Amino acid sequence: MLPVLIVLAVGAYAWLYWRWSRTTLTRNCRWREDRRNGIWVCDFCGATTETDNNKRPRACLRNGG
Ligand SMILES: [Zn+2]
Repeated sequence: MLPVLIVLAVGAYAWLYWRWSRTTLTRNCRWREDRRNGIWVCDFCGATTETDNNKRPRACLRNGG
C-alpha cells in the first residue's frame, strides 16, 4: 500500500474525529433556567439538574440516548 494512501486515510479519520468531537462539544446542552423550580433544564436533550449558586451547567447530561 502506498504511504500516501495511509497518510490520507489517517488524515481523513482524524478530520472526521475532530469534526465529530467539535460538533458534540459546541452543541452542548442549551441550559435554560427554571427559576420556579430552581433547576436548569436542557432544551437539547431534556435533562434537568440542580447547581450550586445557580451556575449554568456546562456538560450535557444525556446518557447515550
Ligand atoms: Zn442536553
